[in-house]
Amino acid sequence: MESPVRKYLHQLFNDTTAMDGGDLADYIPELAKADPEVFSIALTTIDGRTYSVGDDEREFTIQSISKPFAYASALTDRGLEAISAKVGVEPTGEAFNELSLEKGTNRPKNPMINAGAITIHSMLAEPDSSLEDRANHTVEFFSRLAGRKLEMDESVFRSELETADRNFALAHMLRNLGVFEEHAHQVVAGYVAQCAIKVNVRDLAVMGATLANRGMHPFTGERVASRDVARQVLAVMVSAGMYDASGTWFSDVGIPAKSGVSGGILGVLPGQVGIGVFSPRLDPKGNSVRGVNVFNKLSQDMGLHLLNAG
Ligand code: GLN
Repeated sequence: MESPVRKYLHQLFNDTTAMDGGDLADYIPELAKADPEVFSIALTTIDGRTYSVGDDEREFTIQSISKPFAYASALTDRGLEAISAKVGVEPTGEAFNELSLEKGTNRPKNPMINAGAITIHSMLAEPDSSLEDRANHTVEFFSRLAGRKLEMDESVFRSELETADRNFALAHMLRNLGVFEEHAHQVVAGYVAQCAIKVNVRDLAVMGATLANRGMHPFTGERVASRDVARQVLAVMVSAGMYDASGTWFSDVGIPAKSGVSGGILGVLPGQVGIGVFSPRLDPKGNSVRGVNVFNKLSQDMGLHLLNAG
């Protein structure tokens, strides 16, 4: 017999499938080739049960949803103080690819915008690591979060790298301002590799459940990140995870989240579940149209808004 959770997810899936608004991202040429109809939803509870519907095995590149996980990795390796010296935690209200630096310190305002994420990438693995070392370190950390071996999509990686002028420009500015010392091309190539790691919607839910479970993996039992790191990552997802729609998102949905340009959205409800949704058509703010709808409904139907508590 179908479990009540799966039954509910099927209903939600069927109610949302008809939504066909929004557009595929096309500034990375390879992403414009995505099938716009693909749609999937997954939930993983902190005791390790996953429920999913739709095309739940279809892989897509993680893109900006890599940012909270890369932040977790850098915090784990270098500690909050060292990371906070380089990247702040304030929302910007600006698009994800703006330079958005704090006046006075020149720190990128937060790790969820590209300027912050490129800087965080420069701090992954050991200081002086090569491009390959950083990329491998990232895939390895993400694989531990997912509980299975993840890989990079070579064609999306190459496609983005060929058209990454804006990210190169950001990296050159950051280096020029002394935010990092590493070679700008190497850091952008590593960051683009990080964005090209392939996941499916079940991986997103499991990775989210690891954060929801305060850094402890819900089925491998491994402590992937500390409680403090998990909390720090979620705090930044609340204030800056949904680009310049983060305020509206938190007031409507109330679930710490991060979206990506390939059409994924990750949600994390502390102490409860990780949620993944994938559907590639995006609204003007760059968030998946069906994904936003799914989260709004889930939050309302199940009373998941974080500020409902108590
Ligand atoms: N790799 C993409 C970029 O840097 C990620 C952006 C996103 O998902 N919003 O432009």
